[in-house]
Order: sequence, then structure tokens, then C-alpha cells
Amino acid sequence: MHLSTISTKIQNQERLTPEECLFLLKNAELLDLGDLANQIRYRKNPESRVTFVVDTNPNYTNICNVDCIFCAFYRHEGEAGEYTYSVDAMIENFKRSVANGVTTVLLQGGVNPKIPFEYYVEMVERTVKEVPEVMPHFWSTSEIIGMASVSGLEVREVLKRLWDAGQRTIPGGGAEILSDRVKKKISSLKGTSADWLNVMREAHKIGYKTTATMMYGHLETNEDVVEHLESIRQLQDEYHGFTAFIPWSFKPGNTPLEKIIPHYATPMRYLQMLAISRIYLDNFDHIQASWFSEGKKTGQIALHFGADDFGGTLFEENVHAAANFVNKTNTEEVIQLIQDSGFIPAQRTTLYDVLKVYEKKEAA
Ligand code: SF4
Repeated sequence: MHLSTISTKIQNQERLTPEECLFLLKNAELLDLGDLANQIRYRKNPESRVTFVVDTNPNYTNICNVDCIFCAFYRHEGEAGEYTYSVDAMIENFKRSVANGVTTVLLQGGVNPKIPFEYYVEMVERTVKEVPEVMPHFWSTSEIIGMASVSGLEVREVLKRLWDAGQRTIPGGGAEILSDRVKKKISSLKGTSADWLNVMREAHKIGYKTTATMMYGHLETNEDVVEHLESIRQLQDEYHGFTAFIPWSFKPGNTPLEKIIPHYATPMRYLQMLAISRIYLDNFDHIQASWFSEGKKTGQIALHFGADDFGGTLFEENVHAAANFVNKTNTEEVIQLIQDSGFIPAQRTTLYDVLKVYEKKEAA
């Protein structure tokens, strides 16, 4: 196998095999990967536009019984610092966000067995009715599996009821690495890779659009990364229900896994993950760079490694903050960061429809 053969395949728009993906991860120079990824980025999104969404990421409960060892966010019931907010309190939170221009609320929490399914349905119904300015981008696959468990309903029925309440998109969290070898070690109570894929498949069948994510930088090997990418590429072939792919790195602070993996993954590894996902996921339109999880400078560089989206403004964020990782921005800064990277910023919706393009100001 040679880089030139793979490069020719990419130029001819041929699909890479898992073996070729692994070869690139193990042998390709980072800048070569970036070049290949950028070719594909401009083929799929020819304009020099980089999209972003004005969003916020609040949490309604931090009580969770899944005990993932990479998580610093959750508490057990009765433990100091645990909380569960009412639907009323969350609706007020969303209304305050609207004043900041938020159009997407990404709402997640722990898997709290004390919350009845009606709470989730009411949250969606009331958001759609009382805060129509925002799109409810709610619940990870783990929470949806938890709803099935407390209600006794099938996952498909849970998703159908949320759809009937007005929900249309689901965030892709909870995947971590879709390799059961790793999942057994970092989140043994969370279910298998097939469980995550099953929730997404059922959602796509109903008509939901979702994102797909990957958290790397812990116990995974390059082989596990290939397995992850292959699983979501296969599922995307079935229903084309994923809007975007979003990789981010593990944040060790305050987590049990910190004892084994005390360091952040490097920016080089991030750029490699981003580029390889753009190259391998030939059926994804959008790859999201993250100013938030990897830092603003790395986020900007990532726009030259295959990403065409800069993520969200994330006005409220508590999960990474629990791991002592805090990054803040505002809409003006996001626009500036994209412009400074050489691109035209465009504000988008959860579904990647463009709302407003910020053409570059002319030089004085
Ligand atoms: S990652 Fe989610 S499911 Fe796992 S412990 Fe944290 S809150 Fe619970």
C-alpha cells in the first residue's frame, strides 16, 4: 500500500477501505492528510464559507447511574452537588438564551432513573410552544435508552413520542469510541456500540437528523478509530441521517480515568482525527471543528484540515467545566476567528441551513 495510490483513489472519488484508513493513520504525514482532507472539503462545500451556530448547552440533571470513568460531570443521587431542574426552570433558562440570539439548545443530562418519561415529553412540547425561537436539540443516546428503561417502551416508541412532541434533531453524544473493547473499559454500564448505533438508526428511520461524535485520546488505538469511522459510515449509507461528524478529545481533569490518562491529547492528534474523518466519511457533508474543546487556535487551524463548520457559541457548558476545562466566546469573536482563518463566516441552524453570511469587511 502507498500514499500515492490512496491519494489517486481520493482524487477519483473512490471510497477508501478500512485498511487504507488505518494505513493513513499509521503512515501519512499530517500535512499530507490535511491536503487530502481539504480537497474533499472543497469538493463537498466549494465556497470558502465556514458555518457556525449560536447555541447553548445547559443541563437539567447531573444525577447518573452509568458511572463512565471518563466523566467528571455526574453525581449519584443524594451526593453533594447533585441537582435536577424542573421543566419550568429549564424553559426559563431557554427564554434567557433567546435574548443572546440562541437558535439551538443542546440539552443533555445524566441518566437519572427517578425522572419519568413524561418530563422529557413535556420539555420538548413546551420548548416548541413557549420558546419557538430555538430548536430543541435534546438528549444523548444514553438518556434515550434510559427513557426506554423507565417507561417500559421500546427505543423506537420513545423516539416516536418525542418526535410527536416536536423534536426533530438529536445530538450525537455518548458514542465515545464505537469499539466494545474500549467501551468495556471506560463505560461498562453504558451499553455497546450496537446500542448507540441502534438509537441513531431508529431515529434516522423516523426522520430525525442527528450528529455523530467521537471522543478519542484515552484508551483507543488507531484500529479502534477505524472501527468507529467504519460503523458510522455504514449507518450513514442506510438513511443519510447524520448532518455532521464532530470529534473531540478526552478531558481528564477530575475523572477516574485521569489516573491512567493524565494528559490531553495533542493538537496534532486532533488535526489527524479531523482530517482522517473528512477523508474516510465520504458520505458526510459536514465535519465540525471545535474552538471549544481544542482551543481557539487549534480550532482555527482545523479549518484547513477538512472542517467546514466551527461548531457553536456554547454560551452555557458544564460538562467540560467539571473537568476543569473552560473556554468562552461570543458570536462576535466566533465571526472574527473564522475571518482571521481566511474564511467567510455564515450563521446556520441546527440543520445547517444558512441564516446569515458575514461577508468580509473591505479594507479601509
Ligand atoms: S458520560 Fe453521561 S452517562 Fe456517562 S457518567 Fe457521565 S453523565 Fe452519566
